[in-house]
Amino acid sequence: MASRVRYPLKCKCGHTGELVLKENDTPYSSSWEEYSTISFDSDGYQVQGRTAGFQELFKEMPVKCPQCGTRLTEANLAEGK
Ligand SMILES: [Zn+2]
Repeated sequence: MASRVRYPLKCKCGHTGELVLKENDTPYSSSWEEYSTISFDSDGYQVQGRTAGFQELFKEMPVKCPQCGTRLTEANLAEGK
């Protein structure tokens, strides 16, 4: 089983998209996380047996705005509140 969590992303130019976290939530199996983006350019990122923080994520997985070319950081995560 895997669950998905979506985090809204917003570039300073106004372009919006989503960061998608897919994680294994099956009990008693090895844990993994897989990150990808919607509407932003990235190669995706995967970790196994641990949790990646957003800081690590944006450092290891370049996320670029297709509209203005800016590389996003965790500051571009729009809090969905
Ligand atoms: Zn942009």
